[in-house]
Formats: sequence, structure tokens, C-alpha cells
Amino acid sequence: MREEKVTVVGAGIGGLTLAIALQRQGVDVEVCEQARELDEIGAGIGLFANGTRLLARLGLGPALDAHSCDPTEVIFRDGLGGARIASHVLAEGDWYRTEFGSRYSGIHRKDLQRILVDALEPGTIRLGRRLTGLTEEPGGTAAMHWADDTVSRSDVIVAADGIRSLVRPWVTGTDAVRYSGTSGFRGVVRVADLPSLPDPRAIQYWVGDGAHLLHFPIGPDYEYVTFLAVVESPKQWPDPERWRLPCTTEDALAPFRGWHPAVTEMIGALPHTERWGLFGLGPLPTWSRANVVLLGDSAHGMLPHHGQGANQSVEDAFALAEILTAEDGTPPAARLERYWRLRMPRAQRVQKVSWVTNRWLHIPDGPEVPERDALFRAVGTNLPWVHEYDAQSAAAGEDRTTAPAPATTH
Ligand SMILES: Cc1cc2nc3c(=O)[nH]c(=O)nc-3n(C[C@H](O)[C@H](O)[C@H](O)COP(=O)(O)OP(=O)(O)OC[C@H]3O[C@@H](n4cnc5c(N)ncnc54)[C@H](O)[C@@H]3O)c2cc1C
Repeated sequence: MREEKVTVVGAGIGGLTLAIALQRQGVDVEVCEQARELDEIGAGIGLFANGTRLLARLGLGPALDAHSCDPTEVIFRDGLGGARIASHVLAEGDWYRTEFGSRYSGIHRKDLQRILVDALEPGTIRLGRRLTGLTEEPGGTAAMHWADDTVSRSDVIVAADGIRSLVRPWVTGTDAVRYSGTSGFRGVVRVADLPSLPDPRAIQYWVGDGAHLLHFPIGPDYEYVTFLAVVESPKQWPDPERWRLPCTTEDALAPFRGWHPAVTEMIGALPHTERWGLFGLGPLPTWSRANVVLLGDSAHGMLPHHGQGANQSVEDAFALAEILTAEDGTPPAARLERYWRLRMPRAQRVQKVSWVTNRWLHIPDGPEVPERDALFRAVGTNLPWVHEYDAQSAAAGEDRTTAPAPATTH
């Protein structure tokens, strides 16, 4: 496969990681991105060991280190009074790195994007190139149709075009998008502007009836936290064409009135103009058709409550690169099927727990609280199956099977 050409549609974390991994193996790869410039702004992201151990293999470890921090603990707190419900150490005693053999990285999205783009050969990314459709040609390959009315072909086409993928319905015959009944307000705030916040260096979930706030530190000096405040509204998403809706700061603050000052201080620290609908994908029958395959959110868009969407996209990228570059003479379509048959069960498992976690973060005072608290306390013992996994080894046929999924929030 090293002589053949791969076109990646979408320069998100998944598409960029795949392009780097393939290019390092000498594969001719282009990335076509609809945006005229790459401008990830105003949010952070958490990369866990299942993502960072792979990125380190591309030589990106030092760059990630220079822009990241390790959270001290994961803490669950009562959103109203602020009492600790449960916690587990992460950086203390180097627990997380020792346990999983790689770091956690809290990083600004724009820094991660720059690290990935800089790792590609110049000219790999073609900006302002929007895919408008695919057609299947005689011989069982697809032609790509672009917004500028051009048509192109490639040996392998990878649709890393995000949860609102144009390609997914063409590949699978279904869209499978589900609105979660929740929406979020997000932002990045300087810790110095949060005088009421205890443990600013921790990952913290502030939980309550029908809402929660998650925040974690990003950047090398623990100077900033990134947050996502989630509420159970609107019940129905009003506009299927737009997944972000205009809002006011008051819309973001109102559901948290009476919560701990650290929560209201954080949400109120910046103006809110957009409410993010939180969507996930249901199960798909396949991820490939002809020489086209889905990767990242286009295949398994999930709720963000495990911080795994981007990490799963990185796993996909390494698995696909490993399978495409194996020297075993297998034709492309069979390689694509091997990739998704490996990836689908794991991604679905993470999708499922992310969906279930949403409910546990929003339990009202009442009979379910002891069970919720027990799940939060078990976070350390329930972590490993997500974080220890090595997607590249799995794709290479080295046996790194995951443990059975516990009934868990993590
Ligand atoms: C609030 C929130 C918080 C999150 N926090 C975390 C976290 O802490 N950790 C984590 O791992 N994940 C997190 N995620 C999930 C993570 O952001 C996504 O899973 C990840 O970015 C998906 O990457 P991707 O490359 O698959 O898709 P995307 O990042 O969506 O990239 C898709 C790209 O394709 C381009 N594109 C789309 N259509 C076309 C077209 N027709 N032609 C050309 N280009 C096209 C788009 O412009 C875009 O650049 C979070 C998500 C949300 C919503």
C-alpha cells in the first residue's frame, strides 16, 4: 500500500494524526479541509495515555510536554455545597504515568492543532477544499466531488469529516445522529480569576440535579482551566441544521443559580454567545464502502463525558495506518474492513459508557445517590480498560485485549 495514494477528508485531530502516521511510513497522503484556515480557539482538550502513548511514537512527546500539564487528581464534588464525594490521585506519586506508561496531557486545542500541523510535510493540507459528494464508479472505487466543481480519485479515501459527516450516510446508508437532550456552555478561564475554586489543578466534576460542570487544567503552568457546563435542555434540539445556537450569558448561568460560587464564578467569567448541542451516534452497520472508510467522530461521535472523542480518533488513526502499511499484499477494501472490525467494538464501548455517564452526573438527591457515589469512588479501579489500550499493537495483531467493561462512569 505504500505506493498508493490516500486522501483524508478533514483536518481535525483524527485526520491530521492519520496523515502524520502515514507520511512517516512513506505513504503519499493529502488532507483536504473545507475551512480556509485552521483556527481551533477558545477551548482545551484532555489527551489520556491511550492517545499520548501513540502520539509519542510520532516523536511528538516533547512538544506535548512543553504545552501540557498533569492534573493532580480527579475529584467529584457536590455542585451546591462543594463537598468532595470521591477522588482519585493522578499526578501525585506519578500514579497515572506509572499505571498506564504514558502521560495525561491537558492542552489548549490550538496548541495541539499546531503540533500536529507542524509534524506534516509542507503542502500536505489543502485548505478551502470542501467535499460535496461521492459517486461509486465501475470497478468499485469512489470519485470525490468538490465544491469548486472538480472531481478527483484516490486509492483510499478516509472520511475524517467529524460528527456531522457528509460521507457517513453514503457509506452506511444511515446517519445515526442522536441528540442527547443536553447542551453545554464552554470556555477557558484564567485560574487567577477564580478565587473560590478549590483544587484548580485537578480534573473536577461538580454534579447536581440535571446539570454538571467539568473543568480541568490546560497549558504548561496550570494557568488556565477549560470547562464544560452541561444542562438538560432543550429537551428537543430545535434546528437540525445548526448544532450551536445563540445564547446569552444569563442562559448559561441560570441553571446553576444557587450552586457553589466556584461554579458560577467560572461560568460567569466570560461572555457566552453559543450553546453547544451535545450529540452522539448510534451503532452503524459498517464503516466502509468501496475504497472509502470512516475515522474519528464521523464513525463514533460520542458525548464528551469521558474525554475520549479525540483519543479514540487518535487510536483509529494509528490502527488504520498500521493496517494500511502492513506488507502483506491485502487489497485496500479488505484492509479497510479489517480496520473497522477491530475498531468498532472498542469505540462503541466507549460511546456507551459516555452516554451512561451523562445520567450519573445529573442524579437528583434521592435513592440513587449511594450508587452514584460508589461509582465515583470506583473511578480508579474502573479506569484501566480505556487507558491501557494500545491501538497500534492491537492492529499489528499483538494481543493487547481489553478487560470486560465494568458498570462504570469511567
Ligand atoms: C465540549 C466538548 C469537549 C470535548 N472534550 C474532549 C476531551 O477533553 N478529550 C477528547 O479526547 N475529546 C473531547 N471532545 C471530543 C473531540 O473534540 C472530538 O471527538 C474530536 O475533535 C474529533 O476529531 P475528528 O478529527 O474526528 O473530527 P473534527 O475535529 O470534527 O474534524 C473534522 C474536520 O473535517 C472538516 N470537514 C467536515 N466536512 C468536510 C467536508 N465536506 N469537506 C472537507 N472538510 C470537511 C471540518 O471542517 C473539520 O476540520 C470534546 C467534544 C466536545 C463537543
